[in-house]
Amino acid sequence: MKILVAVKRVVDYNVKVRINADASDVATDGVKMGINPFDENAIEAALQLKEQGKASEIIAVSLGTNANQDVLRHALAMGADRAILVETDSKLQPLAVAKLLQAIVAQEQPSLILLGKQAIDDDAGQTGQMLAALLDYPQATFASHLQLENNELLVTREVDGGTETLALNLPAVVTADLRLNDPRFVKLPNLMMARKKQITTLNAAELVVDTASRLTLIKVAEPEARKAGMMVTSVEQLLRQLRDHEGINL
Ligand code: AMP
Repeated sequence: MKILVAVKRVVDYNVKVRINADASDVATDGVKMGINPFDENAIEAALQLKEQGKASEIIAVSLGTNANQDVLRHALAMGADRAILVETDSKLQPLAVAKLLQAIVAQEQPSLILLGKQAIDDDAGQTGQMLAALLDYPQATFASHLQLENNELLVTREVDGGTETLALNLPAVVTADLRLNDPRFVKLPNLMMARKKQITTLNAAELVVDTASRLTLIKVAEPEARKAGMMVTSVEQLLRQLRDHEGINL
C-alpha cells in the first residue's frame, strides 16, 4: 500500500511573524522556514503504518518553489521513501493545491493520502476536504488516532465533548491533528542520508490544472497589543483594581 503525504513549507512556528510594509502579506524574506507542524504528524503516522507492515511506500509531496526541497529532505530524513516537488512560483490557494494533489494522486494511485489539518500560515484547514471532494474519496479530518485493519481505516477524531471513531474504506483522505503522535526527531546522519534519496521535480504547468486564485487577500494586520499586566498583593487590591480601573461591577 502506498501512502502520499502532503507537506507544506511555512514560516517556522518559533518565528514571530512580521507584516510587509504595505500590509499586503506576512514578510517571508530572510525568515526561517520549515515544515508545517501538522504535516510532520502526517509523516509520522505514515511511518508508523509502514513499521507495522501495513504500508510499503511513503511518498512526500510539496508544492511551491525550488526552496521546498528543504521540507521534502526533512520528510525523507524522517523516513519517507521518495519525494515529489511540484514546482510553481504562483501563490497557491487551497483549491489549487487540492487540484494539483489530485493530479499527483492520479499518477501515483496511493491508497491513503495524509495531510495536515491546517497550514499554520494561512490557517485555512481546507485542502484535505477539497481534495477528498475532488477525488470523491471518504475523508476523516483532525485525526487523533489511526488504525488500519484489512483495508478498513479506523480514525478517531476529537469532537465537542469527546471523540468519535469513523471506519473508512480505502482509498481515503485523512488530515492529522497534533495529538495523533509525537513526530520522531530527525538525526543528522539521517539528514545526510536523505540527500541521496530521490526528489522528482515536476512543473505545475505540466499537470494542466487551473490554479487561478479565487479570492484576493486585501490586507493583513497585527492583533491589537495587549495591555501590560500588573501584580496585585491581595484580594482586596484585585477587587479594587477590577472595580475602579476595569469598570467591572462587583
Ligand atoms: P490548508 O488547507 O492550507 O490549511 O492546508 C492543509 C494541509 O494541506 C497542509 O497541512 C498540507 O498537508 C497540505 N498543503 C497545503 N498547501 C500545501 C503545499 N503548498 N504543498 C503541500 N501540501 C500542502
